[in-house]
Amino acid sequence: MDGATTIANDPPMIDPFGRHVSYLRVSVTDRCDFRCVYCMAEDMTFLPKKDVLTLEELERLCTAFIRKGVRKLRLTGGEPLVRRNIMSLIRNLGKHLETGALDELTLTTNGSQLAKYAEELVDAGVKRINVSVDTLDPDKFRDATRWGRLEQVMGGLAAAKKAGLKVKINAVALKHLNATEFDDMISWCGDNAFDLTLIETMPLGEIGEDRVDQYLPLSQVRQDLEQRWTLTDIPYRTGGPARYTEIGETGQMLGFITPLTHNFCESCNRVRLTCTGTLYMCLGQDDAADLRAPLRASDDDQLLEAAIDEAIGRKPKGHDFEISRREAKPAVKRHMSVTGG
Ligand code: SAM
Ligand code: SF4
Repeated sequence: MDGATTIANDPPMIDPFGRHVSYLRVSVTDRCDFRCVYCMAEDMTFLPKKDVLTLEELERLCTAFIRKGVRKLRLTGGEPLVRRNIMSLIRNLGKHLETGALDELTLTTNGSQLAKYAEELVDAGVKRINVSVDTLDPDKFRDATRWGRLEQVMGGLAAAKKAGLKVKINAVALKHLNATEFDDMISWCGDNAFDLTLIETMPLGEIGEDRVDQYLPLSQVRQDLEQRWTLTDIPYRTGGPARYTEIGETGQMLGFITPLTHNFCESCNRVRLTCTGTLYMCLGQDDAADLRAPLRASDDDQLLEAAIDEAIGRKPKGHDFEISRREAKPAVKRHMSVTGG
């Protein structure tokens, strides 16, 4: 299917609080070749294939959103690059960059398959990627990801650099894993011209571990880093929960994603689509809309577009995460690998 030639802009999607929805994150698979301790249980059960949208269906959905004013698309997962034939979807979506219907196509990946795909991603129009690396210690990396090998990810990062991709490293801040490593990570990112974003753990999904033990407030991390690094707040915004600083010593950006200590909902410009076609209007709320049924019910997109409009009309004002000893259960039952972060 080639939707890129048929794009005509519909009225923009404005939610009840006046926020313009221009950013779609799409989880293209719930599967992954890692089992990060904060994200998945080791014995995760994955979705049956029939429930998962085909690549053609995902493309049709993304194209409908682009028609309705989405300017930025991020593919995520699970691990997006382990989905079979994923490059065909990425290449087709890349055509919307050429027509000017889309400003940015990007992805969040664990980096394990980048050595294979970096060049092809650039050919498809991808310019920047986020790569998740929580620690630079190979043993700790194995502990944190259970199945991952740091060496493989480093090979992927080298390929990404060589191909000309701009890289941002995402690291989830975990008390027992990387609390003492941020100086090294800042230096390493500086040497490689990578930006770095630190993320607070979010209470999503049952993972069989106590999150209170893992939680590390980034306000504390920032205070500590400021004793050794010159961090200057900069106005760079993505419409999401990250707040950015520039590190004087390296010239790279350092972002802090603090959903638990900071309220960022008033500028939220995004919605999230799962690989089963469920649209979540807020990362921190369970309310969702099924887009798979209208998608599969007819070949034209009228039903689908009506369902999207109805869903955007329900986008909530904000979320209410809290990690506390009183509430042992996750705030939201689904795992991060469902909505992709
Ligand atoms: N597999 C890809 C990756 O790891 O980059 C994409 C999907 S992953 C779910 C997206 C991001 O969510 C990663 O940076 C990961 O570290 C983060 N993440 C997963 N579970 C999280 C949690 N409970 N709290 C905060 N971030 C989480
Ligand atoms: Fe996989 Fe990414 Fe979740 Fe780790 S964080 S288990 S790499 S989806």
